Amino acid sequence: MAEGPLVHHYANRLRRVLKGKEVRVEFGIRKLKQFEPSLEGLRVQDVEAHGKQFRIHFPDNRVLLVHLMMWGSWRIYRNGEGWDKPPERARLIFRTPTHDVVAFSTPIVRLLTKSELKEDPKWGNLGPDPLRHDFSVKEFFRLLETQATREIGEVLLDQQVISGIGNILRVEILFQSRIHPRRLVGSLSENEKHEMLRWIFRFTKTWMKRMEKKADWISIYRKSGKTCSRCGTLIEFSRQAGRITYACPSCQCLS
Ligand SMILES: [Zn+2]
Repeated sequence: MAEGPLVHHYANRLRRVLKGKEVRVEFGIRKLKQFEPSLEGLRVQDVEAHGKQFRIHFPDNRVLLVHLMMWGSWRIYRNGEGWDKPPERARLIFRTPTHDVVAFSTPIVRLLTKSELKEDPKWGNLGPDPLRHDFSVKEFFRLLETQATREIGEVLLDQQVISGIGNILRVEILFQSRIHPRRLVGSLSENEKHEMLRWIFRFTKTWMKRMEKKADWISIYRKSGKTCSRCGTLIEFSRQAGRITYACPSCQCLS
């Protein structure tokens, strides 16, 4: 699963190749093929990441929304360079005078107007993204307050409360904040919420900076059966919001 930092990293690379370029767009999705002529010769206005979504903007007010989910990936090829993935898995191709930019195996590709995207209940209503300049602390805390009776480990994965956090980030953020993932949001103190936010910023930025390097900031993700580096207690794991979550039962506060 691509979490926010990886999505921002790829969006930056795509922006360098696509922004301001006249593109030919090809879809590997039958129902989108009919829209190819309407995009012919348009220049890409911008490429942005919001949470786990890629949004590629066109000057006619339309947006291509791409979500990689578990299986998708982007590749950028120079003209004439052979593709390292089967062409039949290409779901979306941008051809520029110098590059082919290809989204392979992405389950979600949507072509929407800006207002359609904004009003879309599934894709439009994203919570603030800690890697974006428009992140609002106030808005994040306001949204958290509306989730008082849910567990924090579940809420951190809710893209409509905060976007871009996936399983690795939620586990590590809660471990460093010493908050047990089963805690109800309404039970968190102001200090705990601020501490959590501090680690949200820290880990999303660290991951972006160390994209190509070893993930040495990971302390307990997938470390069940090992002991907590802080207190020596055995790390526990359980299912939460459909994913495996990890926690130290001793130093991550349960109440
Ligand atoms: Zn511990």
